[in-house]
Amino acid sequence: MENQAPLCGRCDAVCCRLTVVLQPEDRVPLHMTTTQDGLHVMARDEEGWCVALDSARMCCSCYETRPEVCRRFAMAGPYCLEVRADYSERTRQGIPLRLY
Ligand code: SF4
Ligand code: SF4
Repeated sequence: MENQAPLCGRCDAVCCRLTVVLQPEDRVPLHMTTTQDGLHVMARDEEGWCVALDSARMCCSCYETRPEVCRRFAMAGPYCLEVRADYSERTRQGIPLRLY
């Protein structure tokens, strides 16, 4: 997730619902991580959002040490637009947003 960017400011941080696979060089606080299918990933809360998301301020609480995959996620890039469209459609249809 980008921080303080115009498009992100009108978004529910839906990229922070995606599975974030951690790399060996990532320095995220360990208590924010877990193991999923044998991979070291960011943990998510029961509604599917990354536990590092500060939902009150809608920003990343570990922004300075956020994972590499988050740093590479391009606001308004194809994947950003895809997850936003999917989220909007699910919300419009009333489809539960739980991931698993
Ligand atoms: S999905 Fe895109 S617009 Fe929304 S927070 Fe993530 S990068 Fe920003
Ligand atoms: S680490 Fe930060 S930027 Fe990455 S998914 Fe979690 S809240 Fe979003």
